[in-house]
Amino acid sequence: MIQLLGVPFDANSSFLRGPAYAPQRIRWMETEGSANSFSEDGHEFIPGKNYRDVGDLSFESTDPQAAFQLIKSQAKSLIQGGDKLIALGGDHSVSYPLIDAHAEKYSGLNILHFDAHADLYENFDQNLYSHASPFARLMETGRINSLTQVGIRTLNLHQREQAKRYGVHVIQMKDLTDSFLQTLQAPLYLSLDLDVLDPAYAPGVSHHEPGGMSTRQLIDLIQKIPFEIIGADLVEYNPKRDLNDVTAMVAYKLLKELMAKMMRD
Ligand code: MN
Ligand code: MN
Repeated sequence: MIQLLGVPFDANSSFLRGPAYAPQRIRWMETEGSANSFSEDGHEFIPGKNYRDVGDLSFESTDPQAAFQLIKSQAKSLIQGGDKLIALGGDHSVSYPLIDAHAEKYSGLNILHFDAHADLYENFDQNLYSHASPFARLMETGRINSLTQVGIRTLNLHQREQAKRYGVHVIQMKDLTDSFLQTLQAPLYLSLDLDVLDPAYAPGVSHHEPGGMSTRQLIDLIQKIPFEIIGADLVEYNPKRDLNDVTAMVAYKLLKELMAKMMRD
Protein backbone atom coordinates (compact mmCIF):
# COMPACT_ATOMS: atom_id res chain seq x y z
CA MET A 1 0.00 0.00 0.00
CA ILE A 2 1.21 3.50 -0.84
CA GLN A 3 0.76 6.06 1.94
CA LEU A 4 -0.07 9.61 0.79
CA LEU A 5 0.87 12.32 3.28
CA GLY A 6 0.35 16.10 3.04
CA VAL A 7 3.14 18.23 4.49
CA PRO A 8 1.72 21.78 4.43
CA PHE A 9 4.83 23.61 5.63
CA ASP A 10 6.32 26.62 3.80
CA ALA A 11 8.09 28.62 6.51
CA ASN A 12 11.51 27.88 4.98
CA SER A 13 10.68 29.54 1.66
CA SER A 14 13.15 32.28 0.73
CA PHE A 15 10.85 34.31 -1.54
CA LEU A 16 7.09 33.69 -1.42
CA ARG A 17 4.82 31.67 0.86
CA GLY A 18 2.01 29.54 -0.51
CA PRO A 19 3.09 25.87 -0.84
CA ALA A 20 1.38 25.14 2.50
CA TYR A 21 -1.90 25.33 0.58
CA ALA A 22 -0.72 22.79 -1.99
CA PRO A 23 -1.73 19.36 -0.62
CA GLN A 24 -5.43 20.21 -0.34
CA ARG A 25 -5.53 21.90 -3.73
CA ILE A 26 -3.89 18.94 -5.45
CA ARG A 27 -6.36 16.53 -3.81
CA TRP A 28 -9.28 18.58 -5.17
CA MET A 29 -8.18 17.74 -8.69
CA GLU A 30 -9.07 14.12 -7.98
CA THR A 31 -12.70 14.95 -7.30
CA GLU A 32 -13.44 18.07 -9.33
CA GLY A 33 -14.34 15.94 -12.30
CA SER A 34 -12.11 16.75 -15.26
CA ALA A 35 -9.68 13.83 -14.88
CA ASN A 36 -9.93 10.14 -14.07
CA SER A 37 -7.79 8.32 -11.53
CA PHE A 38 -5.66 6.26 -13.94
CA SER A 39 -1.94 6.63 -14.60
CA GLU A 40 -0.95 6.39 -18.25
CA ASP A 41 0.29 2.80 -17.81
CA GLY A 42 -3.15 1.69 -16.65
CA HIS A 43 -3.04 1.69 -12.86
CA GLU A 44 -6.21 3.02 -11.28
CA PHE A 45 -5.55 4.67 -7.94
CA ILE A 46 -8.35 3.89 -5.53
CA PRO A 47 -8.20 5.00 -1.89
CA GLY A 48 -8.04 1.99 0.41
CA LYS A 49 -7.16 -0.36 -2.45
CA ASN A 50 -3.67 0.61 -3.60
CA TYR A 51 -3.11 3.81 -1.66
CA ARG A 52 -4.20 5.37 1.60
CA ASP A 53 -4.49 9.12 2.15
CA VAL A 54 -3.38 9.70 5.72
CA GLY A 55 -4.17 13.42 5.54
CA ASP A 56 -2.01 16.40 6.37
CA LEU A 57 0.46 16.88 9.18
CA SER A 58 -0.47 19.72 11.49
CA PHE A 59 2.27 22.06 12.65
CA GLU A 60 2.01 23.92 15.93
CA SER A 61 4.63 26.50 14.99
CA THR A 62 6.90 27.55 12.13
CA ASP A 63 10.00 26.41 14.02
CA PRO A 64 11.86 24.27 11.49
CA GLN A 65 13.48 21.92 13.99
CA ALA A 66 10.18 21.01 15.63
CA ALA A 67 8.53 20.69 12.22
CA PHE A 68 11.30 18.48 10.86
CA GLN A 69 11.17 16.21 13.90
CA LEU A 70 7.45 15.71 13.34
CA ILE A 71 7.89 15.10 9.57
CA LYS A 72 10.70 12.61 10.07
CA SER A 73 8.98 10.65 12.84
CA GLN A 74 5.70 10.46 10.86
CA ALA A 75 7.55 9.38 7.72
CA LYS A 76 9.44 6.72 9.66
CA SER A 77 6.31 5.27 11.19
CA LEU A 78 4.50 5.21 7.82
CA ILE A 79 7.30 3.29 6.05
CA GLN A 80 8.48 0.99 8.84
CA GLY A 81 6.16 -1.87 7.89
CA GLY A 82 7.28 -1.84 4.25
CA ASP A 83 4.70 0.59 2.85
CA LYS A 84 5.87 3.27 0.44
CA LEU A 85 5.35 6.96 1.10
CA ILE A 86 4.52 9.76 -1.29
CA ALA A 87 4.47 13.21 0.29
CA LEU A 88 2.90 16.41 -1.04
CA GLY A 89 4.76 19.55 0.13
CA GLY A 90 5.22 22.13 1.19
CA ASP A 91 8.34 23.94 0.20
CA HIS A 92 11.40 21.88 -0.70
CA SER A 93 12.87 22.07 2.81
CA VAL A 94 10.52 19.23 3.84
CA SER A 95 12.44 16.80 1.65
CA TYR A 96 15.30 16.82 4.15
CA PRO A 97 13.39 15.08 6.97
CA LEU A 98 11.40 12.96 4.51
CA ILE A 99 14.48 11.61 2.75
CA ASP A 100 16.44 11.31 5.99
CA ALA A 101 13.72 8.98 7.29
CA HIS A 102 14.07 6.86 4.15
CA ALA A 103 17.87 6.84 4.40
CA GLU A 104 17.60 5.32 7.87
CA LYS A 105 15.42 2.51 6.56
CA TYR A 106 17.11 1.91 3.20
CA SER A 107 20.88 1.80 3.53
CA GLY A 108 22.79 3.16 0.54
CA LEU A 109 19.84 5.30 -0.52
CA ASN A 110 20.06 7.05 -3.90
CA ILE A 111 18.19 10.23 -4.79
CA LEU A 112 16.86 11.43 -8.12
CA HIS A 113 16.07 15.14 -7.86
CA PHE A 114 14.18 17.12 -10.52
CA ASP A 115 14.49 20.89 -10.05
CA ALA A 116 15.45 24.18 -11.70
CA HIS A 117 17.65 24.73 -8.63
CA ALA A 118 20.35 22.57 -7.04
CA ASP A 119 19.20 23.44 -3.47
CA LEU A 120 22.76 22.86 -2.24
CA TYR A 121 23.43 26.12 -0.41
CA GLU A 122 25.64 25.71 2.63
CA ASN A 123 23.71 28.48 4.36
CA PHE A 124 21.04 30.60 2.69
CA ASP A 125 19.73 33.75 4.42
CA GLN A 126 21.12 32.46 7.74
CA ASN A 127 18.62 29.59 7.64
CA LEU A 128 20.28 26.18 7.57
CA TYR A 129 16.85 24.66 6.93
CA SER A 130 16.02 26.88 3.95
CA HIS A 131 14.36 25.34 0.91
CA ALA A 132 17.61 26.31 -0.85
CA SER A 133 19.63 23.83 1.26
CA PRO A 134 17.93 20.44 1.79
CA PHE A 135 20.36 18.50 -0.39
CA ALA A 136 23.39 20.01 1.36
CA ARG A 137 21.93 18.86 4.69
CA LEU A 138 21.23 15.38 3.31
CA MET A 139 24.70 14.94 1.81
CA GLU A 140 26.24 15.97 5.16
CA THR A 141 24.60 13.00 6.85
CA GLY A 142 26.90 10.65 4.93
CA ARG A 143 23.98 8.24 4.45
CA ILE A 144 23.24 9.12 0.80
CA ASN A 145 24.97 6.87 -1.72
CA SER A 146 24.28 9.08 -4.75
CA LEU A 147 22.43 12.23 -5.72
CA THR A 148 21.44 12.86 -9.35
CA GLN A 149 19.99 16.29 -10.12
CA VAL A 150 18.14 16.85 -13.39
CA GLY A 151 16.84 20.01 -15.07
CA ILE A 152 19.09 22.41 -13.18
CA ARG A 153 19.47 25.85 -14.80
CA THR A 154 20.54 28.24 -12.03
CA LEU A 155 24.02 27.10 -10.95
CA ASN A 156 26.17 29.83 -9.44
CA LEU A 157 29.79 29.46 -8.37
CA HIS A 158 28.95 28.40 -4.81
CA GLN A 159 26.54 25.69 -5.91
CA ARG A 160 28.99 24.37 -8.50
CA GLU A 161 31.51 24.03 -5.67
CA GLN A 162 28.97 22.35 -3.43
CA ALA A 163 28.05 19.88 -6.19
CA LYS A 164 31.71 19.01 -6.60
CA ARG A 165 32.28 18.73 -2.85
CA TYR A 166 29.46 16.22 -2.46
CA GLY A 167 30.04 14.36 -5.72
CA VAL A 168 26.62 15.28 -7.09
CA HIS A 169 25.76 14.11 -10.59
CA VAL A 170 24.26 17.26 -12.12
CA ILE A 171 22.46 17.12 -15.46
CA GLN A 172 21.85 20.72 -16.35
CA MET A 173 18.80 21.54 -18.46
CA LYS A 174 21.06 22.77 -21.25
CA ASP A 175 22.66 19.31 -21.50
CA LEU A 176 19.55 17.18 -20.92
CA THR A 177 19.30 13.77 -22.54
CA ASP A 178 17.84 10.60 -21.03
CA SER A 179 21.20 8.82 -20.72
CA PHE A 180 21.37 9.50 -16.95
CA LEU A 181 18.57 6.96 -16.52
CA GLN A 182 21.06 4.15 -17.09
CA THR A 183 23.28 5.39 -14.23
CA LEU A 184 20.52 5.30 -11.60
CA GLN A 185 20.87 2.83 -8.75
CA ALA A 186 18.39 1.23 -6.37
CA PRO A 187 17.07 1.88 -3.79
CA LEU A 188 15.90 5.12 -5.38
CA TYR A 189 13.92 8.02 -3.87
CA LEU A 190 12.51 10.68 -6.21
CA SER A 191 12.19 14.31 -5.14
CA LEU A 192 10.23 16.45 -7.60
CA ASP A 193 10.25 20.25 -7.43
CA LEU A 194 7.57 21.48 -9.83
CA ASP A 195 9.73 24.39 -10.93
CA VAL A 196 11.78 21.94 -12.99
CA LEU A 197 8.97 22.53 -15.48
CA ASP A 198 9.01 25.63 -17.62
CA PRO A 199 6.78 28.32 -16.06
CA ALA A 200 4.66 28.09 -19.21
CA TYR A 201 3.59 24.59 -18.10
CA ALA A 202 3.58 25.20 -14.35
CA PRO A 203 2.99 28.86 -13.47
CA GLY A 204 1.96 27.96 -9.91
CA VAL A 205 5.43 27.94 -8.37
CA SER A 206 7.24 30.54 -6.27
CA HIS A 207 10.34 30.81 -8.44
CA HIS A 208 9.66 31.23 -12.15
CA GLU A 209 12.77 30.00 -13.94
CA PRO A 210 12.38 30.05 -17.74
CA GLY A 211 13.91 27.44 -20.01
CA GLY A 212 12.56 24.36 -18.26
CA MET A 213 11.08 21.03 -19.23
CA SER A 214 7.71 20.43 -20.79
CA THR A 215 5.25 18.34 -18.79
CA ARG A 216 5.57 15.63 -21.45
CA GLN A 217 9.38 15.55 -21.18
CA LEU A 218 9.16 15.13 -17.41
CA ILE A 219 6.53 12.38 -17.58
CA ASP A 220 8.59 10.51 -20.19
CA LEU A 221 11.67 10.62 -17.96
CA ILE A 222 9.72 9.36 -14.93
CA GLN A 223 8.18 6.53 -16.94
CA LYS A 224 11.59 5.47 -18.28
CA ILE A 225 13.22 5.01 -14.86
CA PRO A 226 14.34 1.39 -15.21
CA PHE A 227 13.07 0.10 -11.82
CA GLU A 228 10.52 0.97 -9.13
CA ILE A 229 11.09 3.89 -6.79
CA ILE A 230 10.82 3.37 -3.02
CA GLY A 231 9.51 6.82 -2.08
CA ALA A 232 8.80 10.26 -3.50
CA ASP A 233 7.83 13.81 -2.76
CA LEU A 234 6.17 16.45 -4.92
CA VAL A 235 6.99 19.93 -3.64
CA GLU A 236 6.87 23.67 -4.29
CA TYR A 237 3.41 23.87 -5.85
CA ASN A 238 2.21 27.36 -4.92
CA PRO A 239 -1.58 27.76 -5.40
CA LYS A 240 -1.31 31.51 -4.81
CA ARG A 241 0.47 31.89 -8.16
CA ASP A 242 -1.53 29.35 -10.13
CA LEU A 243 -3.78 30.19 -13.09
CA ASN A 244 -7.12 28.35 -13.23
CA ASP A 245 -5.62 25.40 -11.32
CA VAL A 246 -3.45 24.55 -14.34
CA THR A 247 -0.49 23.67 -12.13
CA ALA A 248 -2.67 21.84 -9.62
CA MET A 249 -3.74 19.53 -12.44
CA VAL A 250 -0.13 19.07 -13.52
CA ALA A 251 0.70 18.11 -9.93
CA TYR A 252 -2.22 15.65 -9.76
CA LYS A 253 -1.11 14.05 -13.04
CA LEU A 254 2.47 13.75 -11.76
CA LEU A 255 1.22 12.31 -8.47
CA LYS A 256 -0.42 9.44 -10.39
CA GLU A 257 2.67 8.88 -12.53
CA LEU A 258 4.88 8.78 -9.40
CA MET A 259 2.55 6.30 -7.70
CA ALA A 260 2.60 4.16 -10.85
CA LYS A 261 6.40 4.10 -10.60
CA MET A 262 6.06 2.76 -7.04
CA MET A 263 3.92 -0.20 -8.09
CA ARG A 264 5.63 -3.55 -8.42
CA ASP A 265 3.62 -4.87 -11.36
MN1 MN B 1 13.84 22.83 -4.94
MN1 MN C 1 13.29 24.84 -7.48
